[in-house]
Amino acid sequence: MISLLLLYSFINFQSDFKGFSSKDEALYYSKILDCDGYFSKDEDGKTFFFPCKSQLELESAFQEKEVEPKVTEIWDPEPEAVYPGKTFREAPSDAIVLFSSNNLDEWVHKDGEEAKWNIEGDYFTVNPGSGDILTKKSFGSCQLHVEFRTPSVIVSSGQGRGNSGVYFMENPKSPGDSGYEIQVLDSYKNRTYSNGQAGSVYKQHIPLVNASKEPGEWQSYDIIFKAPIFSEKGNLESPAYITVFHNGVLIQNNVQIQGYVKYIGYPEYKAHPPKLPLKLQDHSNKVSYRNIWVREL
Ligand code: MG
Repeated sequence: MISLLLLYSFINFQSDFKGFSSKDEALYYSKILDCDGYFSKDEDGKTFFFPCKSQLELESAFQEKEVEPKVTEIWDPEPEAVYPGKTFREAPSDAIVLFSSNNLDEWVHKDGEEAKWNIEGDYFTVNPGSGDILTKKSFGSCQLHVEFRTPSVIVSSGQGRGNSGVYFMENPKSPGDSGYEIQVLDSYKNRTYSNGQAGSVYKQHIPLVNASKEPGEWQSYDIIFKAPIFSEKGNLESPAYITVFHNGVLIQNNVQIQGYVKYIGYPEYKAHPPKLPLKLQDHSNKVSYRNIWVREL
């Protein structure tokens, strides 16, 4: 099949291919093409040979071969086997589990201190005022599954209701927020600026729809994050992109991230290492999290 494709590309795309110098070669390819004989053309005083008895026959033989299903089958490489969880929310076999129950060993505060958020069985909750928590491990492009629950008792409105955030590529050495935030907020019948509601790329991209559940219900984000690439000199070579499913509903479709998150002002990129921690935000609201896992891409 490879021989056939090579021959096809020679004859069709290489203007300097004039044919084969021997009848035998032409006859060899005639067999592959399931046609008989050969034909020849003279050019610059030399004779060149082609498979099949005429140009017309050669072209129709290619057309027939082209419609064979095998021509477009690619067998290598074979994707590695990964064993999915029993349900869609369970971590697959190649995921790094960042929280399943009982401990926050994979997380620290920005200063490196152990995470002081409150664990209650299979979930944990923001400890207001203790600060954001970051993963000990660093990640670049990845697939992230995270489940969250905003407080069932509503005490505020707008940005004050169930506010937290999932950040990619937060630099622990950078003062203030430095990563790319997918907003966590109670956006169930709670109006705020659209590019700041649940599932927004904060202050950059409005979610396609509002798939929020009622406060107090568990919700999920499944996120595909493509890390930005910087040159050695620190220039942006390729921006970050993000796709987000909120409770299984597509809300960000491969949108281009404009830069690191900013509360005031317009986003901009600042060069950073190719892998950095994930972060969960302490925004003073008791948002809970559970079942967090990540796959490096
Ligand atoms: Mg937030």
